[in-house]
Amino acid sequence: MSIKDNLHKIKFALPPQVTLIAVTKTHPVEKVKEVYAAGHKIFGENKVQEMVDKYEVLPKDIEWHLIGHLQSNKVKYIAPFVSLIHSVDSLKLLQEINKQASKSNRVINCLLQIYIAKEETKFGLDFQEAEQLIASAELKALKNIKIVGFMGMATNTDKKEQISLEFQSLQRFYDKCRQLETCLPDRQAFNLKLEILSMGMSSDYQLAIENGSTMIRVGSSIFGERG
Ligand SMILES: *Cc1c(COP(=O)(O)O)cnc(C)c1O
Repeated sequence: MSIKDNLHKIKFALPPQVTLIAVTKTHPVEKVKEVYAAGHKIFGENKVQEMVDKYEVLPKDIEWHLIGHLQSNKVKYIAPFVSLIHSVDSLKLLQEINKQASKSNRVINCLLQIYIAKEETKFGLDFQEAEQLIASAELKALKNIKIVGFMGMATNTDKKEQISLEFQSLQRFYDKCRQLETCLPDRQAFNLKLEILSMGMSSDYQLAIENGSTMIRVGSSIFGERG
């Protein structure tokens, strides 16, 4: 099937509350243009340099999502245009995003990346760290960022049970935090509004949707395997 057919097949099967991010990492601009021409304008990249390079040559109505680990010293390159950063895993990084967003006169939407996998290699906060960050006075001081939800990656395994349980744990945490938001208005900073749960990639997005995902990040099922 062509890239366009892959895209349409995935999109038409999605429940209305789920947004698809087409993950373009490692794929050349020509292929990204095929997806754009098919009417899809939300793309995800995991590396800053690659995202900047593509942003510069592609149409400006594309929404760019940074989904990979972000180093503080690289925030400045994406702050002028990035739509959503999925991979925020520290207060220090959030403070740098806030600083660079303010230079561009923007408010940058961010997701806290939560560690749910049983692997050593995945970045992220644990539930307790995320809750502390959300409730912190330091967060309330940041005027140029907004925390709009959470992102999580399940373990890379064939065990569907395990993947489901991991997604479920994040869904529960998301629901709990959303309740806190409404029950405890004093904890609700103006820069916090949880409405996105980014879970699921090519291999596991169906399981993620069953477990409450509202945003999936899909690369190889659209573009084919990465070279
Ligand atoms: C690469 C990547 C994806 C997409 O992976 P596929 O298996 O190609 O769908 C999703 N999320 C993150 C954070 C990634 O780095």
